[in-house]
Amino acid sequence: MQAQTREETHPVQSLILSLLANHWGVENGALSVDGHPLPDLIARFGSPLYVYSAKTMRGQLKLLRNHVGRDFDVFFSVKANPNPAVLKVFCNEGAGLEIASAGEYVRAVRAGALADRILFAGPGKTDEELSYVVDGGIGEIHVESLDEIERLSRICDQAKKTVSVAVRVNPDASVQGGAMRMGGGATAFGLDESLLGAAIEQISIASHLSLRGLHIFSGTQILKAETLLAQWNYGVSLARRLIKSGVRIETVDLGGGLGIPYFHNDKPLDLEVVASGARLLREEMRADRHLRSVKLMIEPGRFLAGPSGLYATRVTTVKTSRGECFTVTDGGMHHHLAATGNLGQVIKKDYPVILANRLNDAYDTAQKVVGPLCTPLDTYGRKTILPSPRPGDTVAILQSGAYGLSSSPVGFLNQPMPAEVLVDGQDVTLIRPRGTFEQPVTPMP
Ligand SMILES: *Cc1c(COP(=O)(O)O)cnc(C)c1O
Repeated sequence: MQAQTREETHPVQSLILSLLANHWGVENGALSVDGHPLPDLIARFGSPLYVYSAKTMRGQLKLLRNHVGRDFDVFFSVKANPNPAVLKVFCNEGAGLEIASAGEYVRAVRAGALADRILFAGPGKTDEELSYVVDGGIGEIHVESLDEIERLSRICDQAKKTVSVAVRVNPDASVQGGAMRMGGGATAFGLDESLLGAAIEQISIASHLSLRGLHIFSGTQILKAETLLAQWNYGVSLARRLIKSGVRIETVDLGGGLGIPYFHNDKPLDLEVVASGARLLREEMRADRHLRSVKLMIEPGRFLAGPSGLYATRVTTVKTSRGECFTVTDGGMHHHLAATGNLGQVIKKDYPVILANRLNDAYDTAQKVVGPLCTPLDTYGRKTILPSPRPGDTVAILQSGAYGLSSSPVGFLNQPMPAEVLVDGQDVTLIRPRGTFEQPVTPMP
C-alpha cells in the first residue's frame, strides 16, 4: 500500500502491511507470490484459487526449529492442509506427519512419509482405521480412551504386530492455574489424568502394545507464549512423575496450537519468549536423570502452513443496499469457511482481506465482502477497508494456508472446487485441478 495511506494506517492495514512484507511481494501494484504475479496465476488457473508458497512453509519450519532448538522433533499436523504436495514440502525437510484419520494416513504415505514418521491421534479412531494403519505400519498411535486401548490391543494381537503407543492426556484443571486452554475440562480428547494409571497398566499387559510416550494438546491458535510454555512444562512434569514411579517414557508430544495473527489486534506469538522457555526446559531435562533421554515432539499445523497460503477470488459484482456497499465475489465460505468466522470461532472477525491487483490504490472504502452463496453466513469482510472494488478485481484473503479448503463445506450449492497451486521458486505446480459445473468436486492428482 502506498506511502500516503501508510501515514494514516487503518489498524487492519498494519497487519496486512506486515504480512505483505514478511510473506508476499508487490510488483506493479499487484501482489506476487515469490516472483509470480497473482493476476498471472489467476489468468492461468482461474478464479477462485488457492496459492501456497513452499518457500514460506520451509521458512516457518526453519523459524520454529531455530527458536525451539533441534531437540524438538517437529511433525506437521495434516488436517491443517492435507494436499499431498504440501505434505511433501514438509516431509522433504525432515518433518514427520501427525494424522487424525486413515484417509490422512493414505495421503501421508502417498506424500512419501516413512511409516515411522507418522503418528495417529484423534478421539474416534474406528477399528477399520486402526487395522488399516497397523497393517501399513505406523510410528505411534496416540490412544485416547481405555476402550481404544482394548480395541487396538485386540487388532494388534490379530495382526501379530507390535505398535508404539502414547497416551493422550487431558490434564487436571487444578494443576494448571489460571485460564489456560489446555484441557482440564470435560472433553472428548485424550484421557483424563485420573485414568492415566489405568491406561498404562492396560498397555503394559497388552502383548502387542509398547508404551512409548505421553501426548498433551488441547488448544489451538495460542498467541501467548506463556500459555504454550505452561502446556509444555506441564507435559514434561507429568512425564517426570511417571518415570520417577517406574514407568518407561521415551517421548513427550507437546502438541501443536502455535497461533498466527489473523485480526488487527492479534499480537504474533513471541518466538523469543518461546525460545527462552524451550531452552530452559531442555536445560532442566538435561540436568534431570529421569528426563535426560526423553525426546520432545511438537505437531503444529496452523503455524507451519497458515502464512504460506492465500485464497484469491474475483469480484463478480458491486452493489449498494440501504447505504452499505457490497462486494460480491465468485468465491466464499464453500472454499474458505474459516474466513467467514464459521469454523468454530466465537467472535466473527475479518481475516486480512486485500484487493490484490490494486495494492497501490488508496484503501478508503468500507465494504461488506460476500461470496456467492445464498446465505448471509457467506460474508468474509464485514467492514473491510478496500479501494472501491470494481468487477474483475481480485480479492485475496491472506493467512489461508491452514484450515482453508479442506475445512470448508465444498459441496454446498454445487460450486466447483477451486484449483490449488504450489509455488516453489521458479516452479508453479497445479496441485488440484479446478472443478467444473459437471464435476464440482475434483480429486487431487
Ligand atoms: C489439530 C491438531 C494439531 C494442530 O493444531 P494447530 O493448532 O494447527 O497447530 C495438533 N495435534 C492434534 C492432535 C490436533 O488435533
